[in-house]
Amino acid sequence: MVMENSAYKILLVEDDKLDQMAFERLIKGENLPYDYTVAGSVSHARSILDSNVFDVVIVDYSLGDGTAFDVFKLVKDTPIIVTTGIGDEEIAVKAMKAGAYDYLTKDQERNYLKVLPEIIKNVISHKQTEDELKEYHDNLETLVKERTDQLAREKELLSVTLSGMGDGVVAVDAQKRIMLFNKVAENLTGWKFGEVQSKPVDGIFRVVNEQTKKAIKIPIDKVLGSGKVEVWANGEVLVGRDGNKCPISATAAPIRKNDGTIVGVVMVFRDVSRECEIDRMKADIISLVSHELRTPITSIKAYTETLLCAPNMPEQSRRRFLAVIDEESNRLTNLVEGLLELSRIESGAVKIVRKPVDIAAVVNQVSSALQPLADKKHIRLSTDIGRELPKLKGDEGKIRSVVTNLVSNAIKFTPEGGRVSVCVQHGTGELIMRVSDTGMGIPEKELPKIFGRFYRVYRPDTQIQGTGLGLAIVKKIVMMHDGRIEVESEVGKGTTFTVFLPLKVNRLYRKPSEDRKHTSLAKMR
Ligand code: ADP
Repeated sequence: MVMENSAYKILLVEDDKLDQMAFERLIKGENLPYDYTVAGSVSHARSILDSNVFDVVIVDYSLGDGTAFDVFKLVKDTPIIVTTGIGDEEIAVKAMKAGAYDYLTKDQERNYLKVLPEIIKNVISHKQTEDELKEYHDNLETLVKERTDQLAREKELLSVTLSGMGDGVVAVDAQKRIMLFNKVAENLTGWKFGEVQSKPVDGIFRVVNEQTKKAIKIPIDKVLGSGKVEVWANGEVLVGRDGNKCPISATAAPIRKNDGTIVGVVMVFRDVSRECEIDRMKADIISLVSHELRTPITSIKAYTETLLCAPNMPEQSRRRFLAVIDEESNRLTNLVEGLLELSRIESGAVKIVRKPVDIAAVVNQVSSALQPLADKKHIRLSTDIGRELPKLKGDEGKIRSVVTNLVSNAIKFTPEGGRVSVCVQHGTGELIMRVSDTGMGIPEKELPKIFGRFYRVYRPDTQIQGTGLGLAIVKKIVMMHDGRIEVESEVGKGTTFTVFLPLKVNRLYRKPSEDRKHTSLAKMR
């Protein structure tokens, strides 16, 4: 860039000696601040331009060894003024098109020299403005590029953060159209972002009340209305695309512009199935403590107090009281043991030790052990075991517990004189064990619930004791062996539990949380 007061560096390319002299005269006469060099030909100009930089190049169109256009090729970033003879205006126009900053028509009297200083000044100032504009443009371009890169980085960071988040994120605009939908949101709703982008959120994000099962409005509406953050944590249930239900908690907050206008809502939500499960377990424990444990304890306490207060009680009553205390403490022990076993299995603390198990031997041992119980009720207990059954890869102790639970239940829930049979056969890639009885049966609506913890069919007319934990433990053990259990029953006729145990082991025991993925284990008739 040329400073106002410093000398302009000028190259004059002119083959006419008189014109050269006139130019020099002008400079000296006017005392112009020019640091000038004169080239008499194109080749001379080339050698000078090779090692010098000028502020302005003044070039005559017609030179001995070429034209001004040949000099154009040698000059890169310096403004050029072209001089032509009178009548050569057409050439001057061409020169302007080729990049000359200005042109001068030489007259006989060399009057054009009078305007030359002014033209040089204008050209330099023009060039200066152009350079500044170019610099400004370059800076702007760099700035735009930097901002674009920064935006792209921020966008990528946002997308990585959103996809890496453990919570679902949905953002909508003021018209409730979906603008953003992360991976977790996709998984929980069953919709892909591409499918729901710009669609109204209501049809996609369906929520029902846990208790009433009635559809409820998502908090987005409220936030758009009030501009306040809304929190949901009351057992709202998200209904996925395929009808799958999942309890969620959610927080919805307004998205505002700098001036405070609400332009949308962002909702963060998460699957709280596990927390709900824990809450349910807590409620179970409380109900257990308040009922299942308290009842035997109250009874033990009452009978013990009576015994203590009546030392002279007749022997027969004393024995009867002691028998009740014994029975109630057995009930307590069974309850506590069952509870401990179930919680050990559910926590994943119990690993099964897989060894070849002779299921026929296990069934025979269990049926021998329970024979006295069956005899007491005159129940015919029979076994029907297929020949040469393959060995099962499993945990013998746990398999025994399954057989014991099912057979003792069958005896327990079958009235005197009934029949209980255990049949084991070889299915395709699995062993199938059926425990059938001719007992009281289970009402159809109870069937899906009997594998739940503490669940006991309400039978006010019977005195049958139990903890409601046996079938829950059976189900867990069967699942640990990658098997499944089904139940068929008819009230007053009998019940059959069928256990399917695969012979090939190809998976590890799944964590209890994966139980949810299993379809209903109960088969109803
Ligand atoms: P418990 O036997 O200790 O009550 P379980 O978990 O073993 O608990 O069984 C849950 C409920 O399922 C029982 O209370 C009973 O009502 C029902 N049930 C289980 N087996 C049978 C059966 N063979 N016949 C009729 N009802 C049964």
